[in-house]
Amino acid sequence: MLKIILKGHDNYYGVADVVRAFWHHPTEDREAGCVTCDEAPDQILISEALPGSTKCCSPDGRINVELPAVTSPYSCGREVKRSVYQALAGLSGRKAPWGCLTGIRPTLIAGEEKDPSLLADRYFVRPDKAELAWETYKNEKRILGGLPEEDLNIYVGIPFCPSRCEYCSFISSDIHHHMGRLRSYLDALEGEIKYLGPLIRRNISTLYIGGGTPTVFDDDDFDRLLDIVYASIPLGISTEVTVEAGRPDTITRHKLESMRVRGIGRVCINPQTMNSETLQKLNRRHTAEDTVRVYEMARKAGFEVINMDLIAGLKYENAEDHIESVRRLIELAPENITVHTLYKKRRAQMSMKDVMGDENDDVDRAVSIGHSLLREAGYIPYYLYRQKDTGHGLENTGFAKPGTECSYNVAMMTDARDVLSFGAGGMSKRVFDRQGDKYRVERCPCIKDVIGYIDSWEKMAQRKADFFDIIGGDQHTGDVTK
Ligand code: SF4
Repeated sequence: MLKIILKGHDNYYGVADVVRAFWHHPTEDREAGCVTCDEAPDQILISEALPGSTKCCSPDGRINVELPAVTSPYSCGREVKRSVYQALAGLSGRKAPWGCLTGIRPTLIAGEEKDPSLLADRYFVRPDKAELAWETYKNEKRILGGLPEEDLNIYVGIPFCPSRCEYCSFISSDIHHHMGRLRSYLDALEGEIKYLGPLIRRNISTLYIGGGTPTVFDDDDFDRLLDIVYASIPLGISTEVTVEAGRPDTITRHKLESMRVRGIGRVCINPQTMNSETLQKLNRRHTAEDTVRVYEMARKAGFEVINMDLIAGLKYENAEDHIESVRRLIELAPENITVHTLYKKRRAQMSMKDVMGDENDDVDRAVSIGHSLLREAGYIPYYLYRQKDTGHGLENTGFAKPGTECSYNVAMMTDARDVLSFGAGGMSKRVFDRQGDKYRVERCPCIKDVIGYIDSWEKMAQRKADFFDIIGGDQHTGDVTK
């Protein structure tokens, strides 16, 4: 068992995160003052913060890392992770693609350091990932420049799917079990949107209807969803509107036309892989041919921007399968291609071994080759985030042909713009105390459970109204009605 004793600091969380880059399931034992990991080799280490440096050493002196501080102003959290990372890299004989950067937004650090070589030197980020973070940061910044800070961005969430993909880590474990409640959910959503929408007094930069699978509704109810949104949310002529249609098995000509009639120009059609055999095994009820057919239908309907998602590291697939999927999408030529790496939460029907596999390097290689192919085909990275428990420590990257980027994704992922979310599980955010690239974010979560949302949407709507100062909490009389 690995045991890291903390001395002179209490960054249990950060130390555990660095351990997670090498092994699974570290435990923070705050009472005993250490972080332990059963899966790592037997070793005791002492992580110590000193004035101007941090150390990570074994009692017998065989592991002895001491690094002078590089952060200014001094950030104990980051400094501790640097020395712990170096000690664990030595102990494991491995390196993590993102070095000691364990947060979900490496582009934030790229923006602070303003030089990719510093990401590599200071945080041990692999040079290709350092370049990726730097380039993405610059594109994020450019896109944010087109999103006024005083504007609002809107998310409408539909947490339902026709079947549950085997790898699904969606918050709602009952994503397809509650299909019978679809209509009640739409009623509740209508209530919330009709109540809050007319109170919005801000320009709306972007609207994203996501899921789950928003096209899970039948044609009539899908029309109703769009009618509710368009009737009550004061969209501007230049509001960017995206619908994450998602699963090709739910997309019909009617739904595509219904979106186009309302002027919606952006849609996501997500194959995840272009291998039909894998799709079947993953419990996705469509084939690669269905994806192509729906893509062509969307093209004919006149969508200006089509995004397609892929996942690298899927069970049943090797590097070549993923690379082939990237190639096939490049041939189709959607404007946006988003490359995710598989990650897992407890509810997914896959074990950690399924996610980690024995071929982490293979996933890493597949992602690297896929990225190179996308760049050669003229796509640029424009938003990027990481998730814990990816196992292989990789990232999710949105690529786009220049000028076709989805601004909502950048607003949401950078936390740099206000977002009002409707529907179960949506996270509303407000940005405060903005000073250049620095700001403070407050969040207002909405109940995740679908039945809970149906029962309590009025309370959720009231909470969001107060959060956004749309109406004063004191003045509200409680008469939330449809
Ligand atoms: S489409 Fe996405 S949200 Fe729906 S079941 Fe599959 S992975 Fe989960």
